[in-house]
Amino acid sequence: MNGRLETTEGMELARRALDLMSEHSVAPTPQNYAVWVAYVSDSVPELSESIQAAIDRGGPIDDDFCDELYDRHFTFKRIQDAVLETGGAMSRELGAVVKTLEAAERDTAAYGEALAGASGQLDGDTDAVTFKRMVEGLVSATARMQRRSRELERRLQETSVEVSQLKNNLEKVREEAMTDALTGLANRKRFDEAMRKARRNAELQGEGFSLVLCDIDHFKRFNDTWGHQTGDQIIRFVAACLSRFSKDTHVVSRYGGEEFAIVMPRTTLNEASEISDKIRATVESKRLLRKSTNEDLGHITVSMGVSEHRGGESIEELIERADTNLYKSKQTGRNRVTVDARDDGTGAAAA
Ligand code: GH3
Ligand code: MG
Ligand code: MG
Repeated sequence: MNGRLETTEGMELARRALDLMSEHSVAPTPQNYAVWVAYVSDSVPELSESIQAAIDRGGPIDDDFCDELYDRHFTFKRIQDAVLETGGAMSRELGAVVKTLEAAERDTAAYGEALAGASGQLDGDTDAVTFKRMVEGLVSATARMQRRSRELERRLQETSVEVSQLKNNLEKVREEAMTDALTGLANRKRFDEAMRKARRNAELQGEGFSLVLCDIDHFKRFNDTWGHQTGDQIIRFVAACLSRFSKDTHVVSRYGGEEFAIVMPRTTLNEASEISDKIRATVESKRLLRKSTNEDLGHITVSMGVSEHRGGESIEELIERADTNLYKSKQTGRNRVTVDARDDGTGAAAA
């Protein structure tokens, strides 16, 4: 009961926050969502005062304003996580509400049809006057019911559209919160989720999986020479190469600044190694041009480490092994892929 009440309140808060965000043309990012939910729920009085003051003086309520509020009041990851979890729970709850409403809509339509059918079935068992009265009574009852049910349907339809929109908005916010803004890849949070899921499937279903870690070589040097923006362009380029060769079932993520990870469910060490080498070779083969000036940036390379999950192994242990392989790639000259050592103790490094 308590949970239901909280969910209803949560829905109302989410709806008000999203309405206000749209009213003030605030971008629907997870950060902004956190700020505006805090405002409508008045959970951070100082933040509420700042927003109220800005509304009262007619703005500006722009990106800088929202970023500043977020930085000041939400620097704790814990709070952000709580907002994400609430969003997920609300999404699930709202899905159930939409289903109930759709079922109710079908029921009212069926009721109207049943009444109409009953009036048609009356036959001549009774005398003509009674018969006529019954038919008239039934017909008008049916007409009334149909009017009522049409009205109810219309209302339910409106509610269901609104709830669906709210659900879509929440899913969009959640999706954005799981996506890396620079590359469009999965972010660290989704990577963690994918690893947990892959490991669970390994335990329950015995499905194997592999992990690929990838780090751009000498990126600092590159950044220092060409600047941060060109560095970002390179990060996006490498991200595109990773996505191009990964399968739909793989989760390609930006693991850190210029580090990437691919979680590969149902993928053997050999397959993961082959895909990794295609990525490595493609990155190396492209001659890069600086977008702003068309200057030749030369080539860049990546180093990779590949490990296949071993029965009973923890997520941390698997990451550790892949990281050690990546480190070996760096140590042995970069621009290479190092995979797990075979049982006989020999390591295999491609390219
Ligand atoms: P190594 O081959 O050993 O990996 O050398 P490296 O220079 O790539 O390694 P290091 O980890 O020292 O440098 C990574 C650099 O990446 C440091 C930081 O300035 C830069 N960086 C991290 N995140 C970003 C980002 O989002 N954009 C840009 N442009 N640079 C970033
Ligand atoms: Mg690095
Ligand atoms: Mg690097």
